[in-house]
Amino acid sequence: MTIFPLDNFKELKTPFYYYDLELLKKTLSEVNSASDYPGFKVHYAIKANANPLLLSIIKEAELGIDAVSGGEIRAALEQGFNPAKIVYAGVGKSDEEITLALENEISCLNVESFAELKIIEEIAKSLNKIAPISIRINPNIDAHTHKYITTGLEENKFGIAPDSLEQMITFCSMSDNLDFKGVHFHIGSQILDTKPFELLCDFINRLQESYKQKGIIFRSINVGGGLGIDYENPDQHPIPDFKQYFNIFHENLQLENGQELHFELGRSIVAQCGSLITKVLYVKEGQKKKFAIVDAGMTDLIRPALYQAHHLIQNLTSDGPEEVYDVVGPICESSDVFGTDERLNCVRRGDLFALRSAGAYGEIMASRYNLRALPGCFAK
Ligand SMILES: *Cc1c(COP(=O)(O)O)cnc(C)c1O
Repeated sequence: MTIFPLDNFKELKTPFYYYDLELLKKTLSEVNSASDYPGFKVHYAIKANANPLLLSIIKEAELGIDAVSGGEIRAALEQGFNPAKIVYAGVGKSDEEITLALENEISCLNVESFAELKIIEEIAKSLNKIAPISIRINPNIDAHTHKYITTGLEENKFGIAPDSLEQMITFCSMSDNLDFKGVHFHIGSQILDTKPFELLCDFINRLQESYKQKGIIFRSINVGGGLGIDYENPDQHPIPDFKQYFNIFHENLQLENGQELHFELGRSIVAQCGSLITKVLYVKEGQKKKFAIVDAGMTDLIRPALYQAHHLIQNLTSDGPEEVYDVVGPICESSDVFGTDERLNCVRRGDLFALRSAGAYGEIMASRYNLRALPGCFAK
């Protein structure tokens, strides 16, 4: 259970992100013990949160990095992550980003189209490098998550159709500058059901079997990320069930001897350790509703406005009787709402609220819209 250091909070300018570093450390140690199977390698999907305070702890836990841009590769290198543990995905890698990846000899480029593969081969040739390649396949699995965060369906922009894999492997084998390592998947995010991961294992088993008959062995399989967290009960479930998650792959996936199985977890590692702390500016009695107007907005935490997501809201500085409020931010957009009909301990101006489970896709997505300052941060 997260205990908030209120004495520290009172001296800080709101809004800011608070990170519970003890919880992050416990989470990482769970990840490491639950993934302790031969060949399993866990990367942290740095797009979830690139705060250097968190990255240094994630590096100590010896995870690798999954990057989706040149900026993320650079941030990981600056933080001291080993390039041999960095993988790089993305549908639209620029020539400069591909060059950066090759010059720094990261462990794998996860390629999402034939057009991209041809450009990587050209750039690798000009740099006199051998590009390590995995091909991202779209397995057409419905992750039953929000439509903006599902990525493994046929109509999504990510990955290639399974039918195109063979010609891409052939292209790699004919080039002196490409080294085909294996296949990559990522079916979506905030997945709470085990079924989509089991379906992914079945898909990979069938794919492997058919390629084995052609004499092609994948040295590396990357199953991406996507494990969800409990947004409504962060104190009951501060750490996701990593044992169950890794066990699905251990039980269901038929790995060859010496084969590597890579994971790319973002949200499940950092979401629960973060809260957005915001101050109540006004309590406004509307005609039908009471509004708690806070100093954080969608510029600090965009998930509610972007994905219709809900973060648990707690009043940290009141134990008065519960009343019902809509909690809204100051931005000039109707979607700048954190919660409707929230039951909160009686709210006064100056109260501090915690918006829980905001460690993933929170601070990193902050913007300066309305020319606001970026949120601060405090970690303990
Ligand atoms: C975003 C992303 C991840 C991490 O997803 P989470 O749901 O945060 O675990 C992993 N792999 C790729 C390729 C991604 O784009």
